[in-house]
Amino acid sequence: DLLINQIAAGEVVERPASVLKELLENAVDAGSRSIEVALEQGGVRRIRVADDGCGIVREQLALALDRHATSKITSLDDLEHVATMGFRGEALAAIAAVARTTITSLAEGERHAWRIDASDRQPAPAALNHGTVVEVADLYYNTPARRKFLKTEATEFAHCDEMFRRVALARPDIAMQLSHNGRVIHRLPPVEHTKRAAALLSDDFIHHARPIDADSGILRLSGLAALPAYSRANRDAQYFFVNGRFVRDKLLTHAVRQAYADILHGQRHPAYLLFLELDPAGVDVNVHPAKIEVRFRDARAVHQFVFHAVSRSLAAPGA
Ligand code: ADP
Ligand code: MG
Repeated sequence: DLLINQIAAGEVVERPASVLKELLENAVDAGSRSIEVALEQGGVRRIRVADDGCGIVREQLALALDRHATSKITSLDDLEHVATMGFRGEALAAIAAVARTTITSLAEGERHAWRIDASDRQPAPAALNHGTVVEVADLYYNTPARRKFLKTEATEFAHCDEMFRRVALARPDIAMQLSHNGRVIHRLPPVEHTKRAAALLSDDFIHHARPIDADSGILRLSGLAALPAYSRANRDAQYFFVNGRFVRDKLLTHAVRQAYADILHGQRHPAYLLFLELDPAGVDVNVHPAKIEVRFRDARAVHQFVFHAVSRSLAAPGA
């Protein structure tokens, strides 16, 4: 079983940033209003995510570490309508197979918190004011072959920082903090989208971007598309979210690039922060465990809609 989990872990746990992604998504799914991330040594030594979400009751703590144990979908039908970030129930099991993992949680109705260590799976009383703290230490301590593929601390941290940014951009309503080796890197209060984007992508991005807000009744696209003046001079920023999930999708990227084709003349990449919303039944997020690709039921309609929405806003007077 441990071996199966270690093999499965290869798909889910590529590096510290993939652990962070799963822990952040769990915190978001738990309805948290505040999430604090503390990393040590690029996340290889330790990743700690503390949230103020719904918590996990004592009886569910060991289950949370089991493969295919998810509290989020109960039927195949649910799979068509996933509204949560997670749904496979394999992330924590995979993580626990390749790192020293503990969960401390205070669920509603419990008189005190409980802590479980993945190595013995025996819940013990613990002290915690609210929510859940997941600690993942010494990534790949038991799989040295994998450890060799980890990059420098700075590189692994950069990947973690990028993962944190994606969630922070998608959920400006959640207070979020990131620290590395004891130093605070981001301290983000809950705000609306534009303010969060300014904090993470720069004021310059906001000043050189066109707002987008298009609605077809079935598809809705909102966000910001930077004008060429920004895109030429600044660091890459290509953020596309589908129903709150960061994606890097060929179809969507193509639609945006095509909208920019006339004004960017192929110099560099366009910069954008876009949120596409549609009925979850119209998009399959079950394509890959890392869940960065999606498949649309009506790909043509999505492509046209995105292309036209971005084109229109870039062509508006003043652009
Ligand atoms: P999934 O997210 O796909 O359900 P995970 O392995 O990531 O699977 O998590 C397993 C289960 O553990 C979740 O379904 C959820 O019930 C519980 N869980 C994990 N993290 C948290 C958290 N931060 N707060 C509340 N519950 C959590
Ligand atoms: Mg999950």
